[in-house]
Amino acid sequence: MRILLVEDEKKAATFIERGLKEEYYTVDVVSDGEEGVYMAEVNCYDLIILDLILPKKSGMEVCTELRKKKIETPILMLTARDRTEDKVLGLDAGADDYLTKPFAFEELLARVRALIRRKNSGSSAVLKIDDLELNQITHCVKRAGREIPLTMKEYGLLEYLMLNAGCTVTRTMIFEHVWNESFDTFTNVADVYINYLRNKIDKGFEKQLIHTLRGVGYTLKG
Ligand code: CA
Repeated sequence: MRILLVEDEKKAATFIERGLKEEYYTVDVVSDGEEGVYMAEVNCYDLIILDLILPKKSGMEVCTELRKKKIETPILMLTARDRTEDKVLGLDAGADDYLTKPFAFEELLARVRALIRRKNSGSSAVLKIDDLELNQITHCVKRAGREIPLTMKEYGLLEYLMLNAGCTVTRTMIFEHVWNESFDTFTNVADVYINYLRNKIDKGFEKQLIHTLRGVGYTLKG
């Protein structure tokens, strides 16, 4: 799952970015509102964490502008203020949730998970396809009851495939949701990681869950 973090306070940004990466999220960080709008327009994020007070454009303006441009990515607004009118304005501007600083990182994570889950219409944190299971809270992956250790990127890719189970997922989609801005786009990284995943998820099992659609992409189905 790929997240855009728009936060101008460097310390806070580093803290949140590090914490999210430890939880296997892919994160892009920008430090002003203009760049926030630009990034949200050109990339496909699963969630935007948006600070309220930002240089160039405020969080409120960013929110309004994105919604006007029909970008419906869930937005979690952050602010140092705890005034009801700010919360109301933020929600009216199109934010999906609100968190007042200082906050416990656990609370931020819980809200991030809830917003991403809501967007993907599932209500359970455990995704299941056939005998394959992925727990979004513990990051534990099992096939036929046996735990399968995955690297962060393999986990991110599998989570994305499972959230889109039965649908065709193109290399571009994989790239946009699982890798971040700084990655070299000219590599065949999606294919490489699909192979890693196949070796861990499908190898040794009679039923293959990851299918290749020649020239199109991949699909995961039971
Ligand atoms: Ca700020």
